Amino acid sequence: MLDHLVVGSGIGAFSICRRLSKHQKEFKIISDHEKSATSVAGGIINPVVLKRFKPFWNALEFYNEAIDFYERLQQEDDFELVNEKNVFRIFSSIKEQNDWFNVLERPVLRNFLLPDVEEAPPELKADFKTGKMKNAFLVHADLLLDHFYQSYHNEIESFSFDHSKLIFRNDYFEYEGLKFRKIIFLEGHKVINNPFFSYLPIYGNRGDYLIFRSPELKVDDLVKGKEFLIPIGNNLYKFGATFDRNYLKNKTPLKFQELLIGSLRKLINVDFEVVRFESGIRPNVKDRRPVLGEHPVHKNLFIMNGFGSRGLFMAPLLSKWMYDHVEHGHELSREVDIKRFHDFY
Ligand SMILES: Cc1cc2nc3c(=O)[nH]c(=O)nc-3n(C[C@H](O)[C@H](O)[C@H](O)COP(=O)(O)OP(=O)(O)OC[C@H]3O[C@@H](n4cnc5c(N)ncnc54)[C@H](O)[C@@H]3O)c2cc1C
Repeated sequence: MLDHLVVGSGIGAFSICRRLSKHQKEFKIISDHEKSATSVAGGIINPVVLKRFKPFWNALEFYNEAIDFYERLQQEDDFELVNEKNVFRIFSSIKEQNDWFNVLERPVLRNFLLPDVEEAPPELKADFKTGKMKNAFLVHADLLLDHFYQSYHNEIESFSFDHSKLIFRNDYFEYEGLKFRKIIFLEGHKVINNPFFSYLPIYGNRGDYLIFRSPELKVDDLVKGKEFLIPIGNNLYKFGATFDRNYLKNKTPLKFQELLIGSLRKLINVDFEVVRFESGIRPNVKDRRPVLGEHPVHKNLFIMNGFGSRGLFMAPLLSKWMYDHVEHGHELSREVDIKRFHDFY
């Protein structure tokens, strides 16, 4: 008998599996190996909402646990996973420059925002200069997923989980010959196909990146204008991401390709070559908070989902809360607890 069955294979599944294996739990993972939001994520670990110069909800707690989690993973498993980065926030007006100075001493922001207005590199169009933020990190999400598949290759079963085949026994579950005590669904936006949890107000929100090459662009830090510019090495950059709730496929519609190219032209004044577009679907929740917890009726049937635009940032701490809830029955904070949606069931 296994302790757990884990369904899904994005950052949610990886972070919980890491906790399960640290505690010597026996588990299997079911993965359909399809493109996940995690596989296209920019990988930015950033506690500040740079659009509005405000800290993200629960910013420092998420930030500290994320840095600890990814740096420890990098060190223990000996592979390069994270890099520390500055972020240059391009100001669009004098008012924005003033707003930056007005928030510098606020809690959380004072740990990250620097009190200088800097010239942008000459390849960037930044009439109103930039503000510099320190201590952001970049997680290589593609390497993280490769590592996930390699380190858990004995645990991973490669197929799509068919919810109608789950058999409920008295104090355990059965699925295709596997017996296990608890099941945790970490299916990202595909939770809409899960009959046990499709009542939750989670919806997909596609994001597209333009990947381009520009040998003339000499930017090594992150740049935030309307979109993020993320250097990924070998003169390649990621630029985006968009938001769209209407077309929920891993493909960038022409309209959004043109939008990204137009927006990039407004940001840089050097030549670039379009390499490709990448798209993924974020799992967003109506009230913009993740959803963790046990099914309202079925005991030992759990979910962790709704990471929205910051899954890599939040998953390390959320998986800790989730583990303590699943294994020790610890209460979840009201903001993330699935119980807030029990009326929807
Ligand atoms: C363009 C873009 C940029 C982003 N940038 C950032 C960023 O810079 N920083 C940040 O913190 N976050 C970022 N995010 C958000 C982050 O990627 C997501 O919040 C996070 O990856 C969601 O993780 P997840 O594990 O819940 O779902 P996913 O990553 O989608 O993983 C779920 C996986 O489980 C599989 N699966 C689902 N159902 C089943 C089933 N029944 N059987 C078998 N397998 C199944 C799916 O196919 C998928 O592979 C970005 C997202 C997008 C789209």
